[in-house]
Amino acid sequence: MDHFKYKKGRLFAEGVAVEAIAAEIGTPVYIYSKATFVEHLQKIKRAYSAIDTTICYSVKACGNINLLRLMVAEGSGFDIVSGGELYRVLQAGGDPSKVVYAGVGKTDAEIIEALKAGIAYFNIESEAELENLIRLAAKHKSVSAGQPRAALRVNPDIEYKTHEFLTTGKKETKFGVDIERAQKVFADYGDTAEVKLCAIHVHLGTGGKKVDPYVEAVEKTLPLIHRLRSMGYTIEALDLGGGYGADYESETVPSAAEYAAGIVPLLKDKDLRLILEPGKSICANAGIMLMRLLYVKQGGTKTFAIVDAGMNDLIRPALYDAFHFIWPAEVAEEFVPGRRHKDLRLKGTQTVDVVGPICEGADFFAKDRPLPPVRRGDLIAVFTAGAYGFSMSSNYNARCRAPEVLVDGDRFSVIRKRETYEDLTSLER
Ligand SMILES: *Cc1c(COP(=O)(O)O)cnc(C)c1O
Repeated sequence: MDHFKYKKGRLFAEGVAVEAIAAEIGTPVYIYSKATFVEHLQKIKRAYSAIDTTICYSVKACGNINLLRLMVAEGSGFDIVSGGELYRVLQAGGDPSKVVYAGVGKTDAEIIEALKAGIAYFNIESEAELENLIRLAAKHKSVSAGQPRAALRVNPDIEYKTHEFLTTGKKETKFGVDIERAQKVFADYGDTAEVKLCAIHVHLGTGGKKVDPYVEAVEKTLPLIHRLRSMGYTIEALDLGGGYGADYESETVPSAAEYAAGIVPLLKDKDLRLILEPGKSICANAGIMLMRLLYVKQGGTKTFAIVDAGMNDLIRPALYDAFHFIWPAEVAEEFVPGRRHKDLRLKGTQTVDVVGPICEGADFFAKDRPLPPVRRGDLIAVFTAGAYGFSMSSNYNARCRAPEVLVDGDRFSVIRKRETYEDLTSLER
């Protein structure tokens, strides 16, 4: 579900024709739908309303402070992975007591910032990190906002079908500690005056399309929680991480309600707060990237559609071989796509590679993709680009990063300006 729809062959973001945005702001440009963002969050909230749940939106997926403000207004907390993200959240007016902080390589400076802010949980990835947190908490007690709390990230060793770069819940990853070792970590560090180790964190990865791994993760961690409690430790929360499916292709992933139907019954009457860290399931299809076709070119038997956006703007296809539905923003009625799908075949399409201008073979958005007839000057939309789109963009090839636009009903506003050449060199001495 999202609010990017064709009306009489023209693509609209909510009530705004995207060509109007391109005419005023230029291309490439990220366009977000406020209603889509908010509705996804609300759906998750409703799905888990039967149990005590805190939603911590994952900032790294799409972290413009205006979007974070929207999440704040809806009562959301935040999942952060760096000091920079904590800064963003605080700038947006986020409540630090609803912030969870994950990451295998937190620096001392970042930990101290989070101690001062008074975040909800440090999600601890190793014994060495916990030791360091205890040391820093003791040293900076006078500036800390109360006794810091920590959640131990455990590795339930669950098969989670996704790209190999995107799985984080297997034993052989750098994330978390094995479930067998968790008890020992509590025995060694569960009872210090400096840090309250009182929650369990699991994050399986991202890009999965099934409910079962989450059910399995709960089923594997509940016995651990039970054991720890019977040993006298307080375990107040289970953080189930993120990675819930997003609709890259129409209706191919479970809905928030379907995830909840698997998870909620297991946690009822367990006196355990549930924390969720959804990223892309909230923002992926709340955004598109709009670009302009520069040239159509033949190369051997292939047709290339060369566009004005590159892998620096959206790196997911190059990095993960990720699928994005791509379609012109204005099409004849017979080419209005009924659904977004890899195998969408409409009569009269041609097969093209959609590529960017960057000097790298990996600079592509789609290969051998059916597209309606297109020509120079056409606007082309990359759908479901809200997650890990702008947030992973760079200045490679000295390209100015694209602006971000937020649509609300029939109005739009620029929430991040297009970078300028001056921006590119402004920090260089
Ligand atoms: C990236 C990340 C998330 C969000 O993942 P999505 O797939 O965007 O939902 C949540 N928690 C942690 C710890 C992460 O690293």
